[in-house]
Amino acid sequence: MSQTLVIRPFQTPARGVAQVPGSKSITNRALILAALADGSTLFTGALFSRDTRILIAALQSLGFEVTADEASCTIRIAGLGGRIPNDRAKIHVGNAGTAARFLTAFLALAPNGCYELDGDEAMRARPMRGLLDALTAAGCRALQADGTPATGFPFSLHTTGKLGRLEVDASASSQLLSALLMVLPLSAGASVSMKGSTVSEPFVEMTARMCGQFGRPLERLADGSWTCPISGAYAAQPTYAIEPDATAASYFIALPAVTGHRASVRIEGYADGGLQGDTAFAKVATACGATLKPANGTLITESWSAIRGGDFDFNAFSDTFLTLATIATLADGPVKIRGIAHTRKQETDRVLAMATELERLGIKITPTAAELRTDETLSSLTIFPSKAALRRAASDGPVKIHTYEDHRMAMSFGILGSFDLFGDGRPWIAIEDPACTGKTFPHFFKALEALRTNFVRVSVDGGAASGKSSTSRRLALLHGLLHVDTGAHYRSLTRALLLAGASADDPASVKAALGKLRIGSRIIVRQGARSSALTLGGELPDDADLRTPEVNAAVSKIAALPSVRTFLLEYQRSQVKLASDQGFAGVVMEGRDIGSVVLPDAEVRIFLEADADARAQRRAAEGQFDQVSQRDHLDATRKTAPMICPAGAHRLDNTHKSLQEVVAEIGEYIKVAALPR
Ligand code: C5P
Repeated sequence: MSQTLVIRPFQTPARGVAQVPGSKSITNRALILAALADGSTLFTGALFSRDTRILIAALQSLGFEVTADEASCTIRIAGLGGRIPNDRAKIHVGNAGTAARFLTAFLALAPNGCYELDGDEAMRARPMRGLLDALTAAGCRALQADGTPATGFPFSLHTTGKLGRLEVDASASSQLLSALLMVLPLSAGASVSMKGSTVSEPFVEMTARMCGQFGRPLERLADGSWTCPISGAYAAQPTYAIEPDATAASYFIALPAVTGHRASVRIEGYADGGLQGDTAFAKVATACGATLKPANGTLITESWSAIRGGDFDFNAFSDTFLTLATIATLADGPVKIRGIAHTRKQETDRVLAMATELERLGIKITPTAAELRTDETLSSLTIFPSKAALRRAASDGPVKIHTYEDHRMAMSFGILGSFDLFGDGRPWIAIEDPACTGKTFPHFFKALEALRTNFVRVSVDGGAASGKSSTSRRLALLHGLLHVDTGAHYRSLTRALLLAGASADDPASVKAALGKLRIGSRIIVRQGARSSALTLGGELPDDADLRTPEVNAAVSKIAALPSVRTFLLEYQRSQVKLASDQGFAGVVMEGRDIGSVVLPDAEVRIFLEADADARAQRRAAEGQFDQVSQRDHLDATRKTAPMICPAGAHRLDNTHKSLQEVVAEIGEYIKVAALPR
């Protein structure tokens, strides 16, 4: 029984730097090219995963010196200019398509080699024939155990070291062509032409560009065939930087689509114009509503404006179709994904696997999984989004997603499961065999977890005019928090009670009037920050009406009444849930008793102070002549929930500090509290 991983939805925005590993496609191509180079090459940013380990181990078993340092993501390989030390070896390629194809062509360079090659069950079914046929025509022999010509794994390969004019049918996989292109420069006068066309052209482009980077530019002739004008060994590179994997990056481009407002994920070293065709996913994502900001060779991806439906051709970057297919279930319209026929012969039949699992989640798709099972030529998928269907499917607990030993199934459903479907953090997706991500991204779920910020509750208490509101609003704006001004709650209530004829001196009248009030919340924007304001009977009082001389004079007396405090306590605590439901990174609540009574377990507690002169001046500057010290006295001496500096709170005197300084100081506490646990 393989393990299952329950995905915990993000209740706070995803933030931070995504730990995207190096590209598998580049790492494995670079290994082949450097092995064929005339000296030692050092890779930085290399990927350490099942597929690259398979190729490294194979090269070592062929006699190459390869030293890998996983901690620093570096690999050093001593190239031998086209010579393969061992002419006999047994090699197992697992289910690594790149290793399978690249090695087979690579081995053909041995003048008199005899190699036994095999792969996993899944690899035995994947396309090899085009490559084996091409090599056979050039003089190699690829034989099954019974001595008949092989069309796939397992086979023995008898080589001559000569290539000549190769012709390959790469219609099933572009790797069949890439494998031959990389060995082309090592055989003078060799050429490669294609029977028909191939899929995933950008990967062929990547291969050709990398041959050039290693000093052997390929040329494409008018008839479409490839040659290398100046043949010979590749040139070793002192250092060669592997780009971060663009396919892996697609998960982090998608994540902010499902994790609420103010998500901000940075992908280091992700550059358009690099070697990887999968960077085209960014264009599809943008068309669907993603907010992507390239900055100095990195990509910042923020909360999407929407997940818009549409019709997309993924032929050239099909590894990323699964990323869109899962979040398409949350879109605002159907999503059609075309051009993915060849993915039916990859790690698994990806179209069928995706269809089967989406149906398991109650999602309608065309063609259906049953239709895909009977017709192998179907090559598109239309997904009809429905959150209600997802909720129904997960009503009894997390739905187990089968991953078919396909890392991309596991990762793309991991992103979908990060969506807070029920709004209460309840998990609704579980991934079977999460370790299958080891193929290209062993630490995927750890990298995902590292972007989960903790929901942060900040209490800001202090006397009148101590700077609570300006500080709190600024904090809300900078850290994506919801601002709650509880002073305004007491003011609103005071005004309503006075209008209802109640008096602070007659607690019974206050109690009676309270019973008639209907309170609610509305999110408003003040000084750029989003605040939750108290509504009465659905109405939002004017700010000015809360600061009249009558309200100023009565508010502290009203606020001292136990009935009033009880009335507001649960409401104030409910604001935390509101902030979480609305995708805020936390809440900043200001008042007199927040850190002591309302949120005594707030992660960050602040008590603001300023000397009397400074506070009087601040109020005067606001045009207010409020009885600041009188109110403070009442607030600090009342029996219920008096104003105190809460135990363990950071006491901050801002008399001689600028707002920026105070906000920066508190910001540091918030950042620490928000770090993933
Ligand atoms: O913060 P502001 O000056 O608007 O608060 C008005 C009054 O509301 C305070 O003087 C205090 O009497 C009352 N209040 C309270 N507890 C809070 C917030 C405000 O008693 N948490």
